[in-house]
Amino acid sequence: MSTQALVTEAPQTLRQQDWLTLANNLQLETGLFIDGRFVEARKGNRFDSLNPATGEVLASVAFGDESDVDRAVASAKQAWNGGHWRYMAPRSRMAVLMRLADLVEQNAGELALLETLDMGKPITDALTIDLPEVVSSIRFYAECIDKLEGAVTNTAAAALHLIQREPLGIVGAISPWNYPLLMATWKVAPALAAGNCVVLKPAQQAPLSCLRLAQLFIEAGGPPGVFNVVNGDGPVTGRALALHMDVAKISFTGSTAVGKQIMIYAGQSNLKRVALETGGKSPQIFMPDLEDLDAAVERAYGGIFDNAGQVCNAGSRLLVHRDLHDAFVEKFVERSRQAYRPGDPLNPATTLGPVVTRAHQQGVLAKIEQGLREGAQLVMGGGEPSGMEQGAYVSPTLFTGVEPGMSIARDEIFGPVAAVIPFEDEAEAIAIANDSIYGLAASVWTRDLKTAHRMVGALEAGVVWVNCFGDGDMTQPFGGYKQSGNTRDKSFECLLGYTQSKSAWFDLG
Ligand code: NAP
Ligand code: MG
Repeated sequence: MSTQALVTEAPQTLRQQDWLTLANNLQLETGLFIDGRFVEARKGNRFDSLNPATGEVLASVAFGDESDVDRAVASAKQAWNGGHWRYMAPRSRMAVLMRLADLVEQNAGELALLETLDMGKPITDALTIDLPEVVSSIRFYAECIDKLEGAVTNTAAAALHLIQREPLGIVGAISPWNYPLLMATWKVAPALAAGNCVVLKPAQQAPLSCLRLAQLFIEAGGPPGVFNVVNGDGPVTGRALALHMDVAKISFTGSTAVGKQIMIYAGQSNLKRVALETGGKSPQIFMPDLEDLDAAVERAYGGIFDNAGQVCNAGSRLLVHRDLHDAFVEKFVERSRQAYRPGDPLNPATTLGPVVTRAHQQGVLAKIEQGLREGAQLVMGGGEPSGMEQGAYVSPTLFTGVEPGMSIARDEIFGPVAAVIPFEDEAEAIAIANDSIYGLAASVWTRDLKTAHRMVGALEAGVVWVNCFGDGDMTQPFGGYKQSGNTRDKSFECLLGYTQSKSAWFDLG
């Protein structure tokens, strides 16, 4: 079978050389996607998307400004007013999204390759984590479409009261680069399933997979104008979308600082709804009675080093009971050194790719420097892996002797940097865990059900894992307490967030 055929039939069997060949022959779409087709930006502006593993320009991509956002919103508005999508029979809308999921699955090799080239994650991760989750997310929301129900309330016989669930109108989605297609899909899929029209602004570091998704939506039978993509940067393109008077909701995933800005834009414009999934500094807590230290350590390093630490719920704070401390650190260093081998992300054996840009790499290294200046002890990593200087790599890094007040224990670093903080007892562990502006996720390792249940209740986090880390499926509401956000992605609850209720009171007297 040719490599080209293999990428659709069996991408998991491809070797590094095959991926390189495919990368060299890839046809890239680089326009804005408006009204069902690719168009140039009005002013013809473009920006470069780089490959962080090589530093080379991967693509020159159309840059949409305010007038392009206007054009995309106008197209969405026309589609909304036309009513074709929102009034479509639920099972017909479901069929379009099911076909989209099938098309994503059939094109998973190509989409995974786009992710790897654009933001540097290992191809095996893109193929085995990102793409299957994109497919299941689209299928889950497609399946939900005819499960959305309204209500008839109890009234006097002379009245009928219906509570209907309706879509909001035009949803603006603004997404980050760490899981470019998945984070966009977590917004686009429920928004479309509920019957809204969407304008997506993907992260400028990695827009290519989102452009391909929009094209596949049309191939799946989606009406033009229902799903548009405007590439660009945050301060121009994202801002224009968040300020737009015809946008009913902004669904945002990204940093806490930009999330705050989005709320201001909503207040300055039309009081649009604002759903925020923002940063984190998640604690992983290891109690002295945990059952299996080996299993705990394995999940601990996966929880911080997977995707080179560029994960919103990354378990960057390792709260380890003093009795376990030395054995934990020793195993962590030994095992994670074996598990994370920096390499070409197109090599299926690579487990550690570069971080997303050279600038982000420098930011992560500066945080490591700051940790050293503040007196933490570096026991692993701490710089660039040797021989990988052409890309933006950071070695998996572990600090011990970390005090809760140090910047490496407080700031979201968004790179492969873990901080071990020892504790004496449960109360101290909870106090340290909750001493953060963030509250996205946490984990607890203990063999005692009562301890686990008590700690779940005490932790200020939207997601708590017990004796695991990062597990879940589409039924799981995913989102933060405190400054980690104000909404939930995934789950049925998320779908409701793309609807509003309408009360219809009939006088039958
Ligand atoms: P970011 O810098 O906040 O950017 C996120 C998105 O917002 C990008 O598309 C960005 O555009 C856009 N943006 C920037 N400034 C804007 C503005 N003034 N107005 C409107 N849009 C603007 O975040 P990132 O670096 O891409 O992603 C990392 C962050 O995302 C981390 O904090 C991480 O924790 C968070 N995250 C959270 C979750 C979650 O579910 N809670 C999931 C994944 C990531 P450009 O970058 O293209 O300019
Ligand atoms: Mg890129």
